[in-house]
Amino acid sequence: MDAKRFVSDRLAAISKSGIRRIFDLAATMKNPIDFSIGQPDFPVPDNVKRAAADAINADFNGYSVTHGTADLRDAIKRVLAAEFPDWDPAVVVTCGVSGGLTLANLVCLNPGDEVIMPEPYFVSYPHLTGLAGGKSVPVDTAPDFVYSTERLEAAITSNTKLIQMNSPSNPTGVVYSAEQIQAVCEVARRHDLLIVSDEIYQILSFDGPAASPASYAPERTLLLRGFGKSYGMTGWRMAYAAGPAEIIGEMAKLQQYTFVCAPHPFQKACVEALGTDMSAVVATYRKKRDLAAKILGEKFEFPWPAGGFYFYCKAPDGYPNATAFVEAAIKKNVLTVPGSAFSRHDTHFRISYAVPDDKLIEGCKILCSLAA
Ligand code: PMP
Repeated sequence: MDAKRFVSDRLAAISKSGIRRIFDLAATMKNPIDFSIGQPDFPVPDNVKRAAADAINADFNGYSVTHGTADLRDAIKRVLAAEFPDWDPAVVVTCGVSGGLTLANLVCLNPGDEVIMPEPYFVSYPHLTGLAGGKSVPVDTAPDFVYSTERLEAAITSNTKLIQMNSPSNPTGVVYSAEQIQAVCEVARRHDLLIVSDEIYQILSFDGPAASPASYAPERTLLLRGFGKSYGMTGWRMAYAAGPAEIIGEMAKLQQYTFVCAPHPFQKACVEALGTDMSAVVATYRKKRDLAAKILGEKFEFPWPAGGFYFYCKAPDGYPNATAFVEAAIKKNVLTVPGSAFSRHDTHFRISYAVPDDKLIEGCKILCSLAA
């Protein structure tokens, strides 16, 4: 039997990840210095682990209501009210920000609707838009890796529906200033667009709080925030979406038939997480950022990584493209990701610095030696 013929055209249209070849190469590495992983290296705080274990032992193991438990939704609403006093959004708890993005695209897009997304983008954005029948419109953000009003305006058509935002950004680590966010909000307002603001790295902002469109255009913001990167629990698949009731209600309706609900015991634990001070972790990651910036700054150009845990370095002179540099680094046992995984350009490569300090120093020095 040719099982392939059962695979839909929809999936055939999804290209394999551009980093596949890199990971195939990486599979041959022994104990590499791995700067490719997009997840934090700190453990879930003990009180939050205990809350999860308690919830399991207390038999919170069945389905929850689709929207998310009342206690978690109340806790999320309290956090949002403190940050955005003039906003009273509807909230749905989702299975990771990926779950929120999937629901948002499926709820908002008709076939042919266009989604503006920053290039370079988080790898899932174009696929999830395509899955929903929408069309991705990547807007080049180099060299500062922030949307410019001119480029945004030039990309907007009568089919444009959403503007995808991601600050702090994966893969660049760039954090938009309040003025830059306001400028995007003005464009959205002028063209009557919805802003989907992926703020999964929100607490990992090192030079001051990251601004959000929820402050400047709350009526047209669909906010997606996650617990994975903030509390070291990417495998728990916990996140939430906040925004207009008409959209959140439809997301919850679709969640009922797809994900059903976010993991119930982890919803209980996330109430505890929201009350947990993570400033020590943020300080640790700020130090890692500063340490890597000092070493990499000698040899590489990169936009200032004010948040997340990524550097987006320009491939040094002497290499035809970033992939060639990434391959050279693999030969020296250091694994990074070429920009071609996140964009149409092969000019930069991404470093994740969510690794122990000794590995970070060693790896950055090796990369510098290749740029000499
Ligand atoms: N958005 C961005 C920008 C990300 O970097 C990631 C994870 N790498 C996600 C969304 C997905 O997050 P989650 O694990 O919560 O689905």
